[in-house]
Amino acid sequence: MSDVLVLCYHAVSPDWPAALSTTPERFEEQLTTLVRRGYRGATFERALAEPPARRTLVVTFDDAYRSVLELAAPIMRRLGLPGSVYVPTDFPDRPGPMAWEGIDRWLGGPHEHELACLGWDELGELAEAGWEVGSHTRSHPHLTGLSDADLAAELEGSRSACEEALGLPCRSIAYPYGDVDARVVGAARSAGYSAGAGLPEGRFHSGDPLDWPRVGVYNDDDLRRFRLKVSPFLRFVRGTPLWDAAQAVGRRS
Ligand SMILES: [Zn+2]
Repeated sequence: MSDVLVLCYHAVSPDWPAALSTTPERFEEQLTTLVRRGYRGATFERALAEPPARRTLVVTFDDAYRSVLELAAPIMRRLGLPGSVYVPTDFPDRPGPMAWEGIDRWLGGPHEHELACLGWDELGELAEAGWEVGSHTRSHPHLTGLSDADLAAELEGSRSACEEALGLPCRSIAYPYGDVDARVVGAARSAGYSAGAGLPEGRFHSGDPLDWPRVGVYNDDDLRRFRLKVSPFLRFVRGTPLWDAAQAVGRRS
């Protein structure tokens, strides 16, 4: 059975101290470690449909920050890895920074420029270079809190916006905040998606390609922490009910 390791990054920056950003040096070191271990890259949708190697690595980016094109893509090109980038489709080519709960604390400060979204032309450049451009909904809401109608509008609207802007099929989605439940998965299936990227690593993994767990990589992940996070054994244990039970015992003691 092949090992499909899906990493979730957001931004790459030399000096943005946000949890969701990592430095170019760490980013390169992390991916180089995996390539040396024999991992081969694929886009998210392809990795779930037909993993190309015994060890398959998927590098995903949520939110479509400009630094993905400017800093992450050149490093990945050198390592021979494609990427998957997830865009909240209300934002490309709109002036001003992106804003929603969580990143809004960076508005108006010296790092506000980090919140710029890639334009459709730039996303098209990535697609031409072999990247996958998927949906991150339209406006980046917490999907589980939406009405059925609003949920469908976010899922279907973002998918058609992506397809119209890029002229390519859009079958993959990353759920904002990793906020997904059975109703959201069903709505994503109805909206035409075949691959859905979640986040929380400590959750029992159902094996549904529309609710696929990713390993989130953050600002404070040095190489030691990163190696632990991507360890196949730890990922296996975290994907079983055993992990939840162990956490519960840990909380009681
Ligand atoms: Zn996001």
